[in-house]
Amino acid sequence: MAGVEELLQEKDHVFLDFDGPVCDVFARLPSSEVADRLKRLVGPDLPADVNASADPFDVLRYAASCGPNTAHVVERQLSRLEGEAVALISPAPGVAEVLREWVAQGFTVTIVSNNSVDAIRSFLSLHELAEQVRGISARTTSDPARLKPQPMLLDAAVRALGTSPRQCVMVGDSAADILAARAAGVASIALATTPAKRRALAALSPDALVTDLADLRLAG
Ligand SMILES: [Mg+2]
Repeated sequence: MAGVEELLQEKDHVFLDFDGPVCDVFARLPSSEVADRLKRLVGPDLPADVNASADPFDVLRYAASCGPNTAHVVERQLSRLEGEAVALISPAPGVAEVLREWVAQGFTVTIVSNNSVDAIRSFLSLHELAEQVRGISARTTSDPARLKPQPMLLDAAVRALGTSPRQCVMVGDSAADILAARAAGVASIALATTPAKRRALAALSPDALVTDLADLRLAG
């Protein structure tokens, strides 16, 4: 793995995952509660693995397998709940400073996220982070095939900037971020704040790995 500073210096554009690096979306409205509320929309006969899951995106993926109408209903409700969830939380410590420094050093920052674009936009405005963010490439449809780990959200971010994947780097805290970056031809930096995440993400061979967002600050 390369040094993170060298890697960043080679790039012009940072793609930043939202849930994790920017804030902990379901810190106050737990993801298990959100998942349970979505399950009720899909019906009582859920497969055991979906029924047991605390991840709202597992429910969305299952809803999509039931058909476009079910997927649409579940996605709309997930967006509303994400909006409620982000209204209850604050930005991750240090993220405002990192964003300001990146922009001051000439990087553009695009949020690339599976979360609802509306929830992200309102969170960034509320916490005065919107000025540092050039764009948001995030969930606007109920089709899970358009979300990470597929590359579409990164492809769209590259197109919106009129650049090439080689000029971009994705920073994220999940396997889906690393896999989506690789599929899009974009370098990746794993943000692994726990030993378990460190093991899981290192196994995917990201281009660099850091244990704290502050490790992505560049010397003047
Ligand atoms: Mg994340």
